[in-house]
Amino acid sequence: MITLEQAVKEKARQLGFILAGVTSSEAPAHFNIFEEWLSQNKHGTMQYLAEERSRIRRADPKQILPECKSILVLAMPYHSPLPLGEGPGVRVASYTLGDDYHDIIPPRLREIVEFIEEQVGHPIPNRYYTDTGPILERELAQRAGLGWIGKNSMLINPQAGSTFFLAEILLGIELEPDAPFPTDHCGTCTRCLAACPTQCILPDRTLDARRCISYLTIELKDDIPEEVREKMGEWIFGCDICQQVCPWNRFAQPACAAFEPKIPLPVLTSDLLLSSVEFNQRFKKSPVKRAKRRGYLRNLSVAVGNRGNENDLPLLEQAAQDEEPLVKTHAQWAINKIRSELK
Ligand code: SF4
Ligand code: SF4
Repeated sequence: MITLEQAVKEKARQLGFILAGVTSSEAPAHFNIFEEWLSQNKHGTMQYLAEERSRIRRADPKQILPECKSILVLAMPYHSPLPLGEGPGVRVASYTLGDDYHDIIPPRLREIVEFIEEQVGHPIPNRYYTDTGPILERELAQRAGLGWIGKNSMLINPQAGSTFFLAEILLGIELEPDAPFPTDHCGTCTRCLAACPTQCILPDRTLDARRCISYLTIELKDDIPEEVREKMGEWIFGCDICQQVCPWNRFAQPACAAFEPKIPLPVLTSDLLLSSVEFNQRFKKSPVKRAKRRGYLRNLSVAVGNRGNENDLPLLEQAAQDEEPLVKTHAQWAINKIRSELK
């Protein structure tokens, strides 16, 4: 006879989750690493991570849901990154090519909760998250048997690599926990450390967010520090390099249909002149909308400057007249960079 845990995992598979595991509601054992990371300001401007309420909740899932007895951890695949050296010059992280996961995943988590409630015949206290919750999701995923935390800080599964979104459902019901993932398969590999253009991967499997291109192009709302701009190459939203070079991603699974590429690529330099209306239309369903027009054009200016093509100067000169100071100053930086290379 099929157990409740097996039935729930089967339901998750039907909804597009390729991995599912259960862990207890115990506090994460490595919260101290997160606290240390915060104390060294490695979170940059992400102040919401350092707020006391957020830290208390991240330290103990029962602070989020007092009735929590078990946590279901799930993974849904997105489009695999192109191998290094392929694809268009201007780049976005592959997870952003499809629909926004914040829109796609939560309704499916709700469906799983409803399924469990149907099975047990009564309502169950619950909370669910994908990326947005105050929860150490990679540690919980390791504890639920989904994989190990690689040197690039991603959760890696031997049959699926790391190209998936994680999601968690906190449940006020006892489910049989899975065994934690037992092994670290990074071994002596250091490919991600060698390939990271800003050298922001730290020895304790965390990142110095202040230098990570994902942070600089998505989370940072102000000027990009000049000393890292050249290292950003042509990435305009996120960065896939430490996943592209990871040998385990040869096992990456096909994307769930919603995450098949939708936004038009290559992104054109003429995007430097996108109006707010055009930006909102283009990225209505994409995670790229998080950068907002000002952040997107800031990032694109840096990437175009790094491409160093003098044919882009007329568009950059128009962008340097933008009414948004952030766009103006970064477009001007790109102009100066291209002109200095022409001398
Ligand atoms: S996402 Fe890019 S910048 Fe950030 S750690 Fe990985 S390779 Fe480095
Ligand atoms: S590239 Fe190598 S060291 Fe880095 S996460 Fe992958 S296996 Fe681990």
